[in-house]
Amino acid sequence: MAQVFCIANQKGGVGKTTTAINLAASLSSLNQRVLLIDLDPQGNATMGSGVDKHQLKSSVYQVLIGLEDIKNSKFHSKSGGYDVLPANRNLAGAEIELVDFDHRESLLRNALSKEHENYDFVLIDCPPALSLLTLNGLCAANGVIVPMQCEYFALEGLSDLVNSIKQVHANLNSDLKIIGLLRVMFDPRTALQQQVSEQLINHFGDKVFKTIIPRNVRLAEAPSYGLPGVVYDKASRGAKAYIDFAAEMIERTKKTHND
Ligand code: ATP
Ligand code: MG
Repeated sequence: MAQVFCIANQKGGVGKTTTAINLAASLSSLNQRVLLIDLDPQGNATMGSGVDKHQLKSSVYQVLIGLEDIKNSKFHSKSGGYDVLPANRNLAGAEIELVDFDHRESLLRNALSKEHENYDFVLIDCPPALSLLTLNGLCAANGVIVPMQCEYFALEGLSDLVNSIKQVHANLNSDLKIIGLLRVMFDPRTALQQQVSEQLINHFGDKVFKTIIPRNVRLAEAPSYGLPGVVYDKASRGAKAYIDFAAEMIERTKKTHND
């Protein structure tokens, strides 16, 4: 049975997609079977996995509206070693089209139920909004990974996300929990980042992952080659941190499984 995790933060540009791609590639390098679902019309996780979003016959959009199943819409990322359910701009229309659907928040969960036996991990890269798409991600998941930059306003936005997760937990998906907060693009020389990091630990305790992802230009360069950072330059500091993070995820999810 696959464990399903959303990578979510309604703030834009905080490192969701970079985390989704590099965690997917790191987990697959640790012999885990991984499906990465791109739930963002920007299609960045698709392109960053080496799949051309402009050439898709079917995508997560067709899956959500019930025209195709995941089996016929997914690709294998040769560079990353994992499968990808891709997205492109078509998905932007789904927000409005899906409003008239019954159980519109559970469409992804239902589609995914046929794939559970094929994977150890399913990772869902969410768009930067608390939208119907993100809601579909949260309803389909066992847990949420929240990447965040340690900046002043980061903490403010976090309470909206935490409240949404609580609401989904109470009303739609009692499995859902926050797996952890991941500090990304971290620069230890910045006093403010150190302070915010300490505040995070004071407030969220064990929910803050031990691994810290540094700011590292190799991670930012990799998507333009259609490669995960951990493949593009596996000796880089950023790549090593994501491999450590994958090991921490395996360890942490083993623990929550046994609780
Ligand atoms: P959006 O909200 O638009 O979906 P996002 O949260 O998915 O954005 P990313 O696209 O992963 O964020 O990252 C935003 C930018 O920061 C990208 O240009 C990415 O390459 C860069 N970036 C992400 N993580 C790092 C890092 N650790 N070091 C350096 N650059 C990074
Ligand atoms: Mg993104």
